[in-house]
Amino acid sequence: MKFKKLQAGNVIFRKEATKGNEHLPGICIQAHMDMVCSKNSDSTHNFLTDPIVPVIDGEFLKASGTTLGADDGIGVAACLALLEDNSLDHPLLECLITTNEETDMSGAENLPNDVLLSKILINVDSEEEDSICIGCAGGLERALRLKVKKEQPKESSSFFKVSLIGLLGGHSGAQIHEGLGNAIQLLARIMNPIAQEHQDIQLASFYGGTAINTIPRECFSIFGLPKAQVEEIKTKVLSSFDDIKKEYKLIEPNMQLLIENESSPQECCNHDSTKKILDFLSIIHHGVFRMSPSVPGLVETSNSLSIVSLEKEYFEAQLFARSSSNSQMKYVSEYFDALSRSYEIEIIGDRNGFPGKRLFIYFIWLNFLKNKNNKKGWDPEPSSFALSVIKKVHGEEYDNKTKVYAVHAGLECGLIKKQYPDMVFF
Ligand SMILES: [Zn+2]
Repeated sequence: MKFKKLQAGNVIFRKEATKGNEHLPGICIQAHMDMVCSKNSDSTHNFLTDPIVPVIDGEFLKASGTTLGADDGIGVAACLALLEDNSLDHPLLECLITTNEETDMSGAENLPNDVLLSKILINVDSEEEDSICIGCAGGLERALRLKVKKEQPKESSSFFKVSLIGLLGGHSGAQIHEGLGNAIQLLARIMNPIAQEHQDIQLASFYGGTAINTIPRECFSIFGLPKAQVEEIKTKVLSSFDDIKKEYKLIEPNMQLLIENESSPQECCNHDSTKKILDFLSIIHHGVFRMSPSVPGLVETSNSLSIVSLEKEYFEAQLFARSSSNSQMKYVSEYFDALSRSYEIEIIGDRNGFPGKRLFIYFIWLNFLKNKNNKKGWDPEPSSFALSVIKKVHGEEYDNKTKVYAVHAGLECGLIKKQYPDMVFF
């Protein structure tokens, strides 16, 4: 058996085919070696220096005071068991153990395209025993900036903080098709017709969303309203919110709109820029672009309007598109380009990655300008011959209850497939 440490800390093991199986396509089993490090508040465990303390509890293996690392230690253990068992008949067998799956997937992302010899890759990082995953989405992050013109607040205006809060939020991939409210878009929807109709309205602040992979739960704004029209405008705002509340009553029961007095700011957007920002927010697509034609119920392509903020010289919107189809992803990227041309928006870069943990978002943000490639998806192939064989063998073990599914989120397989497009993945 041979093994090699690769860049980014990945490790590959290779065991030659047993006699008579040399002609069969090689199989690579893939797992990740990193784990989620979490411990009880009273634990003094140091994850960098101390080993995990395993505890056998009846039929279960657990850890004392910390996470066990079964995700994906169980996958690594399966690989080692296969490698050391000399009684098995097998084709060329490779085991690829990657790093950093739980954070930025940099192990899978940095896998060279000339190390694997296998034709089939089986990822063993799934949480459900009776299921086979056959696809995932890739991601494309874009930050769009709209230049704005600022001016002094008008003396004839009173300022109000208008906040939309109490929405559920949710994962911008896994829950994008559920019809949850996007606080940013709903607040823009309430305020846009009013800003278009009433002259002299000035926007002083607008921000919402906290993480690129989350549907925004809250959005806050400060508007300057002509004193003479304040009551009329407030009535329109509340009536528009009432309509939205009815639309969303089954899914967003805790949504609230607050209007509070606010002191006059140092500066605000002029009326033209105010209207432009609200128009811009109204035309960005948040939601599903297309459902998968091959896997019923799976979202193939989507975009999430995740974070916005009004800065000194520009308004910035951060978007996160996902698709399992690389040509659809190209189409979404062209949609962003078209949006930027027609709105004189500056695209300041492709932000890439699947920031599974908030802490890493800042890191990815710092790196995004360096990295121009978006992350590729793993397009499901439900009619492949290899899947039919795996389903048959798997079904014999699981009373033919095998579930075949794909996810609208990022997995390592999508990144590895980019380097090995002809390989079949599970
Ligand atoms: Zn895992």
